[in-house]
Amino acid sequence: MIIITLTLIIVVLSALGIEFPRLKALLGKRRLGRWLSAMESPARKGRVGEQRVNRKLQGMAPDYRLLRDIMVRTRSGRTMQIDHVVVSRYGIFVVETKNYEGVIIGNGRTDEWHQNIWGKVYELYNPEMQNKSHVGVLKYLLPEVDASLFHSIVAFPDDTKLVLSNLSEYVVSMGAVRRVIASYTEPVLSGDEVTRIASRIEQANITDMEIRKQHKTEVSKAKALRRAKVLSGKCPICGGNLVRRKSRYGWFIGCSNYPACRYIKQKTNHK
Ligand SMILES: [Zn+2]
Repeated sequence: MIIITLTLIIVVLSALGIEFPRLKALLGKRRLGRWLSAMESPARKGRVGEQRVNRKLQGMAPDYRLLRDIMVRTRSGRTMQIDHVVVSRYGIFVVETKNYEGVIIGNGRTDEWHQNIWGKVYELYNPEMQNKSHVGVLKYLLPEVDASLFHSIVAFPDDTKLVLSNLSEYVVSMGAVRRVIASYTEPVLSGDEVTRIASRIEQANITDMEIRKQHKTEVSKAKALRRAKVLSGKCPICGGNLVRRKSRYGWFIGCSNYPACRYIKQKTNHK
C-alpha cells in the first residue's frame, strides 16, 4: 500500500515536472533515494546525467565556450553527432556522455568493451574509439589547429564502476569532466582563435531539421536491421548462428564463428 501511494505521488510529481533528483532531495532519505533511483528509466537517467554535465560545463563560461548537440558531415559525407564541444584558450575538449550502469570493463586497445550488470554481460563498442572519430571530424573541419590541442573525454554516470586499462585519452565519471578540463591551465590559443574556432564549428553545425531527422532515421534503421537479424538468431556481422557462451566476465550470447567473428549480443535499451 505504501509503495502504491508513493508511486502515485511520484507519478503526480513527475507530471508536474518535478525531477527525481529534486524529489530525492526533498525526501532526503537515502534508502528511499536509492529505491527511486532504481525506478528511473535509463533514458531518463541519461538525460539527467547529461544535463548535469551541461550545467557544470556552462558554469565554466565565459572562458570556456560550450557547444552542444553538434551535427557535422564527415569526410565521407555521413552525418555525425557530437554531444558537447568545449572550446577554450587551453584546448578543445570533445565530451561524449555514456549512460551505462553497473561495471564497465574496457581496454583502450580493443574494439569491444563489456558492461556487467545484474550478473549479465553485454558488449559495447569502445567509446574511446567512438569519441576519437568525433575528434577526428573536428580536426578535419579545423585543419589549421594543432592536433595536440584536441582532447577526448568520455563520461559515465558517477555510480558506474570503471575497470579500464591502456587508455589513451580520458574515460571518467561525469562528475570529473569539469576537473579534467580545468586541469589544462596553459594557454595555447588566443581569445580570437577561440572565437574563430567556435564560430567555425557553429557554422558547420547542421541545424536543418530535415537532415537531423534523416540522421536519426538512418541510425534507427541500421539498429532495427541489426535487431531483426539478432532476433532471428543470426549474427548481424557474419550471418553465423548465435549461441550461449561464457567468458571470464560471465554468460553472454555470441557468434558461433568465434574467434573469426567476435560479435556479442548487446543490451538494446542504450542510446
Ligand atoms: Zn558472427
